[in-house]
Amino acid sequence: MKKFEREERIQFDATGYEFATLAVRSGQQRTDEGEHGDPIFTTSSFVYSSAREAAAKFAGDEEGNIYSRFTNPTVQAFERRIAALEGAERAVATASGMAAILSTVLSLLKAGDHVVCSRSVFGSIVSLFDKYLSRAGIETSYVDPTDNDDWRGAIRPQTRLFFLESPSNPLAQLADITAVAAIAHEQDILLAVDNCFCTPALQQPLALGADIVIHSATKFLDGQGRCVGGAVAGPDHLMEEVFGFIRTGGACMSPFNAWVFMKGLETLKLRMEAHCASALALAQWLDAQPGIDKVYYAGLPEHPQHALAKRQQTGFGAVVSFEVKGAREAAWRFIDATRMLSITGNLGDTKSTITHPGTTTHGRMTADDRARAGIRDNLIRVSVGLEDLADIRGDLQLGLAAL
Ligand SMILES: *Cc1c(COP(=O)(O)O)cnc(C)c1O
Repeated sequence: MKKFEREERIQFDATGYEFATLAVRSGQQRTDEGEHGDPIFTTSSFVYSSAREAAAKFAGDEEGNIYSRFTNPTVQAFERRIAALEGAERAVATASGMAAILSTVLSLLKAGDHVVCSRSVFGSIVSLFDKYLSRAGIETSYVDPTDNDDWRGAIRPQTRLFFLESPSNPLAQLADITAVAAIAHEQDILLAVDNCFCTPALQQPLALGADIVIHSATKFLDGQGRCVGGAVAGPDHLMEEVFGFIRTGGACMSPFNAWVFMKGLETLKLRMEAHCASALALAQWLDAQPGIDKVYYAGLPEHPQHALAKRQQTGFGAVVSFEVKGAREAAWRFIDATRMLSITGNLGDTKSTITHPGTTTHGRMTADDRARAGIRDNLIRVSVGLEDLADIRGDLQLGLAAL
C-alpha cells in the first residue's frame, strides 16, 4: 500500500522554479520514510525479491539499482540537481573534475579524432591530452581562447571536440561561448565548456550554445574544500555515452561525496554573490595601489573583455590575479607577508587562498610556455573567500607593505 496519498506534495516537481529554489530542492526523491533531508545510500549493491527480478534488472528489462558503480540514489540526486541548475537534459557524476574530462573524451571520441583546446586551461588538462590521450590516438591542438579566427583555423577534417574554460585560470581570459559554439557547429564539432570558475550560478554554457558542461565539483560547487568530485552535463544521447563509460571505466562518485555536494549546491547562489562582491571590491582596490602593476579581473572596465563578461556572465567570479612591481622575489615576499590567507593551490573555498602560479600550479610548464601563456614571475592569484572583506584587504595590505 502506498504510504503517501499526496505523492505530488512529497516529491518536488522542478518545473517552473527559479535557480535558487532548484539549488535547494531539485534532485531529491523521497523514500517511503518521508525524510525531509537527503539520505546517504552507503551501499555497494542492491538486493532483489527473486532470481527473476535480479535477471530482469541485469538484462535491463526492468529499471532499478544493481551496483553503486552503475547507479546510486544519492549520486543520482546530485546528478538531477546539476542537470536542473545547468539546464541540461541529464548529468553524470564523476570521481573528480579530471575524471569528468577523461570520460567525456574517451566516451565521445576515438583514435584518429582531433581536439581543439584553449591554451588557457587547467594544467592537468594539458597533461591529460598531451601525455595520455595522445597515446590513445587522440591528438590535440591549442588556440588562443579569445581569438575566434584561431578556433576556426585549427579545425581539421578529424576535429570532433572544442574544449575551453571561461573565464580562464589565472588570467581571467574569456572565450565568447556563443561565437565559438557557432564555429564548432558549422562543422558538426561538439563544444565542451569547463564551467568551474563561474558555476551555473553565474554562467550557463548550454544556454549560450555549448553542447557539454564540465565541472570540478571540488571547487565552488562544494565551496568548502571538503571533497573531490566532478560532473558532466548535456543532452541525453551524449550523456548516455558518458554514463556508459563511467559505469564500465569506474571513475564514479561516492555517495558520501554526492551528499556533501548536494549540501554545497544549496548555498551556491548566495556564496557566489558574496564571493563576487568581495572579489570586485578587492580588484578595484588593488588596481589603485602603487605597488601593483596590473590586475586581471573581468569586472574592471579596463579588462579587454569586460563587455563580453557582462553579456555572458551574471557575475565576474571570485578569482583575482595581479602582478606586483618587481620579480619573483617580490611576489614571494608579498605572499609570505600575509598572515590569514591560505598559501595553497586550491580555490573556490570559503577560505581565501593565495598562490604564486609561476612556481606552483603552472610550475611544470617550460619558461617559454609560461611566457606564451602570459604567466609572469610577478603574478599572484587570490581566490577570494567569504571572510570579512576588511580582513582580506588587511592581509593583502601586509603583502603590499612588504614589497
Ligand atoms: C580543479 C580544476 C579541474 C580539475 O578538477 P579536479 O576535481 O581537481 O579533478 C578542472 N578544471 C578546472 C578549471 C579546475 O579548476
